[in-house]
Amino acid sequence: MPRTAEASHTTPTRLRFWGVRGSVPTPGPATVHYGGNTSCVEVRAGEEIIILDAGTGLRPLGRALVAEFNDHPIKLTLLLTHTHWDHIQGLPHFLPIYRPHNHIRILGYEGARQGLVNILSNQMESPYFPVGFSEVPGNIGIEELKDMDFTVGAVRVQAHFANHPGVCVGYRLFTAGGSVAFFPDNEIQTRHRALPGPPAKRPPSPDFSQAQDQKLIEFLRGTDVLILDAQYDCDEYPQHTGWGHGCVDDAVALALQAEARQLFLFHHDPDHDDAHISRMVEHARRLVTEQKGALQVEAAREGATVELPVSARRTGRA
Ligand SMILES: [Zn+2]
Ligand SMILES: [Zn+2]
Repeated sequence: MPRTAEASHTTPTRLRFWGVRGSVPTPGPATVHYGGNTSCVEVRAGEEIIILDAGTGLRPLGRALVAEFNDHPIKLTLLLTHTHWDHIQGLPHFLPIYRPHNHIRILGYEGARQGLVNILSNQMESPYFPVGFSEVPGNIGIEELKDMDFTVGAVRVQAHFANHPGVCVGYRLFTAGGSVAFFPDNEIQTRHRALPGPPAKRPPSPDFSQAQDQKLIEFLRGTDVLILDAQYDCDEYPQHTGWGHGCVDDAVALALQAEARQLFLFHHDPDHDDAHISRMVEHARRLVTEQKGALQVEAAREGATVELPVSARRTGRA
């Protein structure tokens, strides 16, 4: 596993889930346990605050940061996987952008090639939102992701393309406590091919699909914490091939092939209540047991924390 100069740092890496749902927020009594906010994960590594995606979970995270820092400046980096609504809608409600002493660096790959600045600004234009992005007082730097291997302070970050409509990337962060990989939206390409579906939606060739899947496995090899799209169960997935989302069986298979230590099922389907997600976790654990794997599997849950290095039963219950 690549290590950075931060390896000697003694502060543990901490990760917290603020939004775990895919597609659209799903509040209500059926989603109280796992949560209804969309994609947002906070990583604290050494001095760095790195936020993965700006779904609606970003709103409560922003409130928590302002409460923690009080009047002190906040410096953070926001890494966007893509600009579908469930990954950017929290940004207009992110309190730190409204404080002039805060510094926020936003990085992302904007697949539609309209420019990341334009895409993020457009969702705050009238009549969608009362405050324009250019009017917010925080110091915000927006950068198109061009280099797929870069650093955020002492944290090395690698990006890799996911299989998802438009252009979408996933990230792997190499911290002193180990590595965290985040692929909230991804569909295994060879599985997509293997099932019936409209020809136009199918990938170009079996060889290409296999090569792409293998590249992803290598990219993820040895990841300590893998946060991965597992939107569907295996009964639902055949109705959704080509949509750019995975099923729990594929998430487990990928994590096992990549020799990940801990898998968090992520991007929960809006139609899945808490009981359904819990059944998916049990199913995933059975798959691991059948294959005599050592992989730990959990479903990502709003408010849950993980400390790295990961050890057995280290997942927080906050
Ligand atoms: Zn999504
Ligand atoms: Zn998406």
